[in-house]
Amino acid sequence: MNCIFCKITKGEIPTNFHYEGERVIAFADLNPQAPTHLLLVPKSHYENAAELAKGDPNALVEIFSAAEQLAREFNLEGYRTVFNTGAAAGQSVFHAHLHLLGGRAFS
Ligand code: 5GP
Ligand code: ZN
Repeated sequence: MNCIFCKITKGEIPTNFHYEGERVIAFADLNPQAPTHLLLVPKSHYENAAELAKGDPNALVEIFSAAEQLAREFNLEGYRTVFNTGAAAGQSVFHAHLHLLGGRAFS
């Protein structure tokens, strides 16, 4: 399988990790949509958030606790978290990931 996020989680593509835990890593989005835009990615491959919830629910728990920790580290007053599911909703990488966005106003 040619999955870019599997390559990043395995360290095959040099990437600065802002968080690494047992099941999850976080790194900056290549094309940021906010001053802080991180991706929180499970180390195991699941196509989307629902599949991840079924297959590795502990990774979902770690994703949200890591999001809170990162928001504190990046001094975010508030933050937005987004899982896109399906191409119609804007998903372009089919390895589950949470977008963590902050540092600007959101409507
Ligand atoms: P999606 O559109 O699937 O919800 O989000 C995929 C995100 O991954 C996009 O925001 C895109 O900018 C980001 N992205 C795609 N390829 C790479 C990459 O190789 N490195 C990093 N850091 N981000 C990537
Ligand atoms: Zn993958």
